[in-house]
Amino acid sequence: MAERVTAYYAAGDPFGAEGDFITAPEISQIFGEIMGLWAAEAWFYAGQPDPFVLMECGPGRGTLMCDALRAAGHISGFLEAIRLVLLETSPVLRDIQERALRKYDTVWVETIQDIPHLPLFMIANEFLDALPIQQWRFYEGLWQERMVGENGLFWENAKNSPLALPPKEGQIWEISPERLAFMTNISAHIAHYGGSAIVIDYGYRGPLAGDTLQAIKGHKFVHPLTPGADLTAHVDFAPLMTTAQDQGLDVFGPIPQGDFLLQMGAEMRAKILGQQAVLERLIAPNQMGTLFKVMTLSRAEKGQQ
Ligand code: SAH
Repeated sequence: MAERVTAYYAAGDPFGAEGDFITAPEISQIFGEIMGLWAAEAWFYAGQPDPFVLMECGPGRGTLMCDALRAAGHISGFLEAIRLVLLETSPVLRDIQERALRKYDTVWVETIQDIPHLPLFMIANEFLDALPIQQWRFYEGLWQERMVGENGLFWENAKNSPLALPPKEGQIWEISPERLAFMTNISAHIAHYGGSAIVIDYGYRGPLAGDTLQAIKGHKFVHPLTPGADLTAHVDFAPLMTTAQDQGLDVFGPIPQGDFLLQMGAEMRAKILGQQAVLERLIAPNQMGTLFKVMTLSRAEKGQQ
């Protein structure tokens, strides 16, 4: 039976030199530290709610959160007020996260419906790219959706498409109802209980046509149906911004990751750690600095400028 093309997440430990790919927090502690400082600052300007939820979505090996809590622990009252929540579906990664964060009281959830009803500060690095997408195209006068069948990927005719765009022959469009639903729910939570979210991922601000589905195995691009490959797609930030704005949130960005890290003082920190060359990997335009984008959402607090 044919199935929709979806990005999925492999059930092992895919990170680092031995794994399939390497993410920013695994490259340098500076990344997680800056996320921690962002969270502490957002919490401070929200009036230092106590208690509050600090949540990371798709925390991988727990490295980002470990570095974030170490850095933000210097902010008075922050650690004491935290309810730490990790959204993770992979049991293998949960075990690794548990070991990395054993110093802290941590709660794991599998859906955002289970987040405690408190102000929420959320971090999601390379999480949205792992959620499912659909691919659509208009071909020879018909809408088609890309599917997976017994003989690989193919285009199946459809009566109409969920796209609001006028059809243009041959162009491929990607949409992700799962990403949108996720952002809508997070925005609703923040609009109601207060807080902020930071989302970092590779992607663009659409509309933009193109096939960005990619499969990586052992640090190499492979065919999307290669068994065990990690399948992801670039994130279109535009619909995510709109849904947050529709809920009355302030949206900042998306801006290039390199700009964000530099504005947050990454260069100074790299000097202290002797990590200037390492930092280049995160900020250089031909590495992760431009393709990766940073977007924040927050509820404007009364009296805030
Ligand atoms: N943020 C980490 C890991 C990114 S990989 C880092 O930067 O290193 C994607 C992460 O999202 C993994 O932890 C994966 O298990 C998790 N994940 C993928 N799909 C998920 C889903 N639907 N719900 C919860 N977690 C998910």
